[in-house]
Amino acid sequence: MTYERRVAESLPRVRDRIAAALARTGRTDDVIILPVTKGHPAAAVRAVAAAGLGRAGENRVQELESKRSELGGLVEWHLIGHLQRNKARRALALSDVIHSLDSVRLADELAREAERAGTTLRVYVQVNVSGEATKGGFEPEEAPAEVARIAGLPGLAVEGLMTMAPFTDDLAVQRKTFAAARSLLEQCAAAAPEIGRGLSMGMSNDYEVAVEEGSTIVRLGTVLLGERST
Ligand SMILES: *Cc1c(COP(=O)(O)O)cnc(C)c1O
Repeated sequence: MTYERRVAESLPRVRDRIAAALARTGRTDDVIILPVTKGHPAAAVRAVAAAGLGRAGENRVQELESKRSELGGLVEWHLIGHLQRNKARRALALSDVIHSLDSVRLADELAREAERAGTTLRVYVQVNVSGEATKGGFEPEEAPAEVARIAGLPGLAVEGLMTMAPFTDDLAVQRKTFAAARSLLEQCAAAAPEIGRGLSMGMSNDYEVAVEEGSTIVRLGTVLLGERST
């Protein structure tokens, strides 16, 4: 099936579910859909662009680089995967937004590179509210102070927080994680009022709960585009 067909079939259903989740909690604002195109060819990005989604998320610099060299500025490019500091300069050149700002040293490096390039990089600070050792991001206890420091770095514009729930079908666990991220955002905003109020949370298996708990941007791969080949 072509990617156009896949998106034509999946997108209305995803939009309905997001609308229903918003309605359940009385939210009247909108949620951004970030199509996650990692593991799919450039045709997937063309399809989401043709559907008017305007963004694509990639988790590896290499893959982002190859798609971007083919497609240029067709979409706004979001880097959502862990970034090594030695790739900061490349990532900055390739990304419009980085969701996986997960350490102070990476923040310093990206800020330095952004300043050198004369640009401002939009970032989400990744927080580990589920407490899983395998997940990256700042610990909740340290997040408000670190976010305030990061927000003060020239070259970076903090749009909000990003988090991932444990991989589980347990709705209560998902909900607890997302609610914790939302409350952490409030603490961070109290420490650094200039930051954005964005919450990057929710993937294919948990985006409805994430929206109920305040997500402003959901990162959707499988549910929009089907299984990945890589
Ligand atoms: C792959 C990935 C997604 C999308 O995953 P799906 O389950 O396919 O929707 C979202 N966020 C991050 C950080 C990812 O690496």
